Amino acid sequence: MSEDFYDVLGVSSDASAEEIKQAYRTKATEYHPDVSDDPDAEEKFKKIQKAKQVLTDEDKRSAYDRMGHDRFEQAEKHGFDAGDAGAGGMGGGPFGGMGGGGGMGGGGLGDIFEQVFGGGGGGGRGRRRPRKGRDLRTELEIDLEEAYEGAQKQFSVHRPEECETCSGAGHPPDADSRTCPECQGQGQVTQVQQTPLGRVQQTTTCQRCEGDGTIYSEECGDCRGEGYVRNEATLTIDIPAGIQEGQTLRMEGEGAPSPEGGRHGDLLIDVRVREHEEFERDGNDLQYRLAISFPQATFGDTVEVPTLDGAAEFEIPSGTQSGETFRLEGKGMPRLRRRGQGDLFVQVQIVTPESLNGEQREALEAFAEAGGDEIEVADGFFEKIKRAF
Ligand SMILES: [Zn+2]
Ligand SMILES: [Zn+2]
Repeated sequence: MSEDFYDVLGVSSDASAEEIKQAYRTKATEYHPDVSDDPDAEEKFKKIQKAKQVLTDEDKRSAYDRMGHDRFEQAEKHGFDAGDAGAGGMGGGPFGGMGGGGGMGGGGLGDIFEQVFGGGGGGGRGRRRPRKGRDLRTELEIDLEEAYEGAQKQFSVHRPEECETCSGAGHPPDADSRTCPECQGQGQVTQVQQTPLGRVQQTTTCQRCEGDGTIYSEECGDCRGEGYVRNEATLTIDIPAGIQEGQTLRMEGEGAPSPEGGRHGDLLIDVRVREHEEFERDGNDLQYRLAISFPQATFGDTVEVPTLDGAAEFEIPSGTQSGETFRLEGKGMPRLRRRGQGDLFVQVQIVTPESLNGEQREALEAFAEAGGDEIEVADGFFEKIKRAF
């Protein structure tokens, strides 16, 4: 079970602040230790609070998105040191180096720290943690039935993978190498600048050798020196029952490789749920339109309605009005990673016959003559049919 803050709140990673707050309120109500009978409620409640606290703070959220769950937690435990801010700030993948100074868009104290004291608080490139590979994003379309049952889906994704020819090195193994003259093999260059705060030392990754410290006489022909190539990978993911349109699943380590030999990024999968022919979905509830005849509506009847779990019997009460909606409890969608199911709302539509045989015509004419065209509207009539889709 993922600890990812977005998953904890059940929102996608691009959810708005408002959606996050809303999701928090819903979850917090459910898992509040005073009301929940879930034995793990307290722990879950703490997680929900923690997730909300991070995701509703713009700075923390962007740090979280950049660093990923594990590194964020670590950084929080040990303090956001300069290494984290610097490495995280570059985040955008193999070309994310951005040139310029040490303050690479990370924001916050880390950058200032790094600007003043130099990268990683010591300048030695060996100390810096290699930055994680880029997160990748893809879409996966499923049927409503699959969202109902949960499903194991196979899908393909084009993504950068380590070049097999050069094992990710970017050059043939027998290429001549020499120390980078730009950084003297350090992989980093330090510049001293005059600023209003005084003299500031900035350390950046060397552009010439891209932090390698070494320059090679030849590039790998298959990856043109990048160390990776784009491949099609086939992956399998477990889709949890109850997943909703637009929610995002995360596959850890299935993203882009790290250009510095660090951890792979993650693969984010945006789930699309195809529209269903019979059911409309509203959160965990389903809606279904049922056509009934005038006599069924008048006298009542027992009918079958489809559900995603086979047919269910449903009692049409006598005197049912067209447009009236009935609730079949627990016949809706399962709740994502929770117990219980939503409801199925059945809205009945009385079908007026477009043609009648002789017998039907006679019977209806007799009904009209017996006063059938005098309509009495009972109290609450419009209330009863108000609930429209
Ligand atoms: Zn290669
Ligand atoms: Zn260099």
